[in-house]
Amino acid sequence: MNVQQNLEQINEELKVHCKKEHVSTLPNVIAVTKYVTIDRANDAYYAGIRHFGENRIEGCLQKKQALPNDIVMHFIGSLQTRKVKEVINDIDYFHALDRLKLAKEINKRAEHKIKCFVQVNVSGESSKQGVSLEDVNTFIENLEQFEKIEVVGLMTMAPLTEDEPYIKSLFQALRLKRDEIKALNLNYAPCKELSMGMSNDFHIAAEEGASFVRIGTKLVGKEE
Ligand SMILES: *Cc1c(COP(=O)(O)O)cnc(C)c1O
Repeated sequence: MNVQQNLEQINEELKVHCKKEHVSTLPNVIAVTKYVTIDRANDAYYAGIRHFGENRIEGCLQKKQALPNDIVMHFIGSLQTRKVKEVINDIDYFHALDRLKLAKEINKRAEHKIKCFVQVNVSGESSKQGVSLEDVNTFIENLEQFEKIEVVGLMTMAPLTEDEPYIKSLFQALRLKRDEIKALNLNYAPCKELSMGMSNDFHIAAEEGASFVRIGTKLVGKEE
């Protein structure tokens, strides 16, 4: 399938699922291009996508250079502290803030304010990155000292499972935590956004009010 057709299909599903739960705003679709070539990423651009996601520095810099300059680049993977300087000023959003050491390094290297999502490990699986749900408040309080960091929202990755009610409960828990932080009205942490949902579960994330879904395989495909 071509990217245009995939996108139409995804938009249709997003509409249906948002309507089902009376969600009034459709999520923004981030095309995750980590598995594909620049040509394929360009196809996504010409299909109308402007948000792109990469989880490796090299891929991120390559795509950013190759694509037209009105794209919005999201770094969606974990980032080693010592590599922050290689990429932080080339991205628009960072989705995986989960350690104070990383926040400190971003603050040191960033030339402008960086829009960050705090990554939350909602399921508590030991293999997953992220701050635990219980620790989110304290973690965010500790970010106030870093003037280059703006906490725009919360991000999570759901575990690989076909148990949709379980995935829905995790996305709901993240939404409630987002609502709680947002209600604190912190100027450094407006926390209005929710980054959740991938190829297998974006429809569930839409039902729970995701503002960004991150879709690779089902949108641009996956090349070996
Ligand atoms: C790879 C990746 C995605 C997209 O995964 P698909 O299942 O191919 O849609 C989304 N978010 C993160 C953090 C990823 O690493």
